[in-house]
Amino acid sequence: MPEGFWNHPPIDFSRRQNRERFAHTLEQVRSQFKEESSERSRGFRLESVNPADPKEIVGRVRVSSVVQAQEAIDRATSCFPEWQRTPAEKRAGILARAAGILSERRWELAAWEVFEVGKGWREADADVIEAIDYLNYYAGEMRKLAGWRQTQQLPGETNVYSYEPRGVAAIIAPWNFPLAILTGMTAAALVTGNCAVMKPAEQSPMMAVYLLEILRSGGLPADACQLLQGGGEIGAYLVRSPKIHLIAFTGSRDVGLEILRESYTHRPGQNHVKRVVCEMGGKNAVIVDADADLDEAVNYVIDSAFGYQGQKCSAASRLVLVREVHDRFVARLNEAVQGLKIGPPEDPSNFIGPVIDAEAQHRIERYIRLGKKEAKCLLAMTAPKKGYFVGPAIFGEVDPASRMAQEEIFGPVLSVIRARNFDQALEIANNSQFALTGGIFSRSPAHIDQARKEFRVGNLYINRGITGAVVERQPFGGLKLSGIGSKAGGPDYLLQFLEPRTISENTLRHGFAPPEFEVSRRANNK
Ligand code: NAD
Repeated sequence: MPEGFWNHPPIDFSRRQNRERFAHTLEQVRSQFKEESSERSRGFRLESVNPADPKEIVGRVRVSSVVQAQEAIDRATSCFPEWQRTPAEKRAGILARAAGILSERRWELAAWEVFEVGKGWREADADVIEAIDYLNYYAGEMRKLAGWRQTQQLPGETNVYSYEPRGVAAIIAPWNFPLAILTGMTAAALVTGNCAVMKPAEQSPMMAVYLLEILRSGGLPADACQLLQGGGEIGAYLVRSPKIHLIAFTGSRDVGLEILRESYTHRPGQNHVKRVVCEMGGKNAVIVDADADLDEAVNYVIDSAFGYQGQKCSAASRLVLVREVHDRFVARLNEAVQGLKIGPPEDPSNFIGPVIDAEAQHRIERYIRLGKKEAKCLLAMTAPKKGYFVGPAIFGEVDPASRMAQEEIFGPVLSVIRARNFDQALEIANNSQFALTGGIFSRSPAHIDQARKEFRVGNLYINRGITGAVVERQPFGGLKLSGIGSKAGGPDYLLQFLEPRTISENTLRHGFAPPEFEVSRRANNK
């Protein structure tokens, strides 16, 4: 096994035995639905359903009440002094053990994701290994931050610097990377010595149940991490609580902005300013330059725009084509997308699965209707009636200032914008309230260099797809209204969960200790 941090490799589904094993795991997991449901069902109301077949209930969990939320905050608060004192090495060890358990259960958890959030096999596996990577990476990063470090030393004066946890963290997560994002934010809070109260998205409650189980099996004290299930009301309760010190949120722009507003409002009994780590949406653009390799670009654009039905914050939703390639690229893209199979993701031949729920389906369908009015519909594929499916849609001649080009749709909808030249393409790409990911396809060193300097996004990708950031290799996070945190999976991330302290000591003796002190010291030493 390699030394230090290494990224967990994906399952190689080109191998027949792996395909057979995963198909078998899917069957096994499906046979547990009933058991899972009945075990957790008494008085429980939140149903997790298979978005490809909403009649199929994957699991049921109890919706947490406000009273339970308060109890969870109180338990986490009581546990904080002890967890804070737990040596960083021990906390990191717990994360590393949890990563090991997750790795052993990776097949099963990826299979759950196929059913709970409608991910295809590769996407589901990628989410699980990203969660493993976060646990291992943050464990390693915490080891580097632990202890005192010396700052400037002078004769007669020592100066040291160290980090302390903040208190109780509320972890509010989205459903689209139901294990990785929840694990990343929770692991960062815990390994830095904070206690955590997790609030997963209401669409993916089961993944959180498994994460908690795994963290506790790794040795995490029960009260250090609590789990609350439910929707925005419970999230909002946590955000407003004066006992919460830190909020790690990933989700939409509007909810993120509301959380920021609420968090910075001082409330009675609150003796601190809350720290907010806030990762929000995107409206990501890919530019195809006049000299781009179109074969390569078509594949990557399809993957970036339609992989997991476009339900990634990093997904491509604007395609900016430089005039010379516009018509050729649109024709090739259109033809290639028409070849994509749509259907339940448990069948690996389906590239397009369902969107997460009926609300998302209706929202995306509304945007498709808007696109038909605002722009030229180049493609709108039909989708199966059963399940929350939406066929991929491509719109041409989209006005860069229009709603189709400015609002996050979060579905398999791509807006194509024509640019006169590369300069204008960059201008169009930057014309957004969001700045999360972006990409260019070009073979011109001058244009690549220009994009490096002028394409203002958190994660810029050159001649490759714009999704799938890997922990440590591509620390991830956006600018502008895409977020205000340091990048997840990067070297600064844990600092947000910590408070730095400086201690200065004058070590020069000032005269002698008074005689009465000397007398009593001698007496004590006898
Ligand atoms: P969402 O904002 O609707 O919900 C996210 C979480 O916030 C959920 O747990 C939800 O219950 C909770 N919530 C809702 N209202 C709340 C409130 N008033 N107070 C506190 N919590 C509240 O987002 P979603 O639909 O789950 O996820 C999709 C969004 O997340 C997209 O906008 C996507 O771009 C974004 N996202 C961003 C990143 C990133 O790293 N920047 C990663 C993944 C997803």
